[in-house]
Amino acid sequence: MTEKTIYELSQPGRKGFVFPDSDVPAAPLPKAFERGSINLPELSELDVIRHFTNLSRLNYSVDGGFYPLGSCTMKYNPKINEVAVRLPGFSQTHPLQPITSVQGNLYLMYQLQEMLQEISGFHRVTLTPAAGAQGELVGALIIKKFHESNKDTKRVKILIPDSAHGTNPATSAMSGFEVAPLPSDARGNVDLEALKLHCDETLAGLMLTTPNTLGLFDENVIEVIEMVHNAGGLVYGDGANLNALLGIVRPGDLGFDIMHFNLHKTFATPHGGGGPGSGPVGVSERLAKFLPGPIATIVDEGDDDTPPFYGFYTPEESIGRMKAFYGHFGVVVKAFTYIAMHGPDGLRDIGEKAVLNANYLMEKVKEDYYLPYDRTCMHEFVVEGTWKDIPNVHALDISKRLMDYGFHPPTNYFPLVVHEALMIEPTETESKQTLDAFAAAMKAIAKEAREDPGMLNKAPYTTPIRRSDEVKAARDLVLCCWTPDSF
Ligand SMILES: *Cc1c(COP(=O)(O)O)cnc(C)c1O
Repeated sequence: MTEKTIYELSQPGRKGFVFPDSDVPAAPLPKAFERGSINLPELSELDVIRHFTNLSRLNYSVDGGFYPLGSCTMKYNPKINEVAVRLPGFSQTHPLQPITSVQGNLYLMYQLQEMLQEISGFHRVTLTPAAGAQGELVGALIIKKFHESNKDTKRVKILIPDSAHGTNPATSAMSGFEVAPLPSDARGNVDLEALKLHCDETLAGLMLTTPNTLGLFDENVIEVIEMVHNAGGLVYGDGANLNALLGIVRPGDLGFDIMHFNLHKTFATPHGGGGPGSGPVGVSERLAKFLPGPIATIVDEGDDDTPPFYGFYTPEESIGRMKAFYGHFGVVVKAFTYIAMHGPDGLRDIGEKAVLNANYLMEKVKEDYYLPYDRTCMHEFVVEGTWKDIPNVHALDISKRLMDYGFHPPTNYFPLVVHEALMIEPTETESKQTLDAFAAAMKAIAKEAREDPGMLNKAPYTTPIRRSDEVKAARDLVLCCWTPDSF
């Protein structure tokens, strides 16, 4: 990397900021705070602006280009959301303020709960979970508490299809369940015969990623849910990829008992790099008493002259608090803005376009890449990133080469049921021109694989850094190479 650090750019005496004259009497500093030197970098405002602008350009972003990272729904996040969340009434409030002074914020939370209930077909929603995975944990703990409250203590097993998201087995195990994997059938649905064998009195529940990580809607979903219910279990729907179903199917109507939403995927908050996100959880009526609080509610309906008064409650048999204060309120404001802006017809349009874009791209990409589950997909599809006659080219090589063509790589090596998986999710916000350009790059790379496979093994060639040791980068993450003490 050629970018200089801010310490290397420093020039003695250069200044970017002048402190105003003090308007309070000078007072001596406590001795403990005194240091001989703090060796801060010295730069002009222009030096600083250029440094950070250039650094930001080393990174890939949704605002910079196409980002088809499967399962992550890296769609465009409308900037109106940022305007809304910065309104002082939202951004300048404190969670410890008396609720009489933040009625507007409570109104918004209440409205978003109602909107999510309407969209999903669930009876109650809590907004507090911090992200999708924490929503799953809430779901698994509710399944546990439900069976405990029925004194049904033999139920220790959660079923996870092999086409599920990786967080599903993780959160089930964290909640103390045994995780039993379920195979997919030849069409990418849950294998009903395998499911039948598990339907006994030890079954606590099933976690079904919907659509699954193959981008497929389970064609037997109603039967699957009925089989689990008849065996006394509950069904959790991983709703992180609700994009594909918006305005078309309501998971609550299908019979799911619990589901989380990913506000930072489906409802347009920028994500990646650690959040904050938000993973509200919806439940059916019989499970509402277990939800974590605080949940916004109408305390007093008001009348013609007085508006309703809002407050919070926590259900009596709640599994307990999952998050400080009220969850990530900023993400809640963005989701509310996004849903209000689109309205019911707009939401349905999102669902339809997400599915249309994925199918359009799938038809083009499958001309050159093997598509193991060849049927109409939902929001994403999965192809093999290798060929039988070119075994030395791998999904990773194709992904790295895509960066030379200016695209973010798809998700690699997931789901595990597809050999050398490339999981591609275009999202509804991309134009036909962008999809065509990406398909053309995929085609060009398939040609390169035939003509010069060794070249692909060394890609990328045009990025700020070439191929990195990704395991080492993740395990020995160095976030700050330079400190004043490095000098
Ligand atoms: C992203 C995702 C999750 C996890 O959500 P986080 O907010 O990253 O914790 C779970 N399931 C599916 C299907 C996902 O795509």
